[in-house]
Amino acid sequence: MKTYQGKCHCGDVSFSFRSEEITDGLRCNCSVCKRKGALMSSFVIPAGDANINILHDALSVYRFDTGIAKHYFCKSCGIYPFHETLRAPGNYRFNLGCIDEIDTFSLPAKIFDGASL
Ligand SMILES: [Zn+2]
Repeated sequence: MKTYQGKCHCGDVSFSFRSEEITDGLRCNCSVCKRKGALMSSFVIPAGDANINILHDALSVYRFDTGIAKHYFCKSCGIYPFHETLRAPGNYRFNLGCIDEIDTFSLPAKIFDGASL
């Protein structure tokens, strides 16, 4: 197991979690993920197992359609650091681009067909 630390661009929203070493990512083709273009963690972390730190009340949330998925973003810099998933509420996927030690351009990406849900 390894501890990963990440943050939005301005640093007002930061997080850490423990997981197996990250060797791939996940891209989703739903209407919101297509616009964000982020490489997400291919696994989920129970919300209670992630450490989330928020400064200046910077965390906001965007919901659409069913409203179940919670797409969090930093009100200051606009970056999406993590979201609570539609299929497994109470669990987060993280934006791997927020983790400095991960090169998101060298990881293989699985595709999730969120557009067909
Ligand atoms: Zn920020």
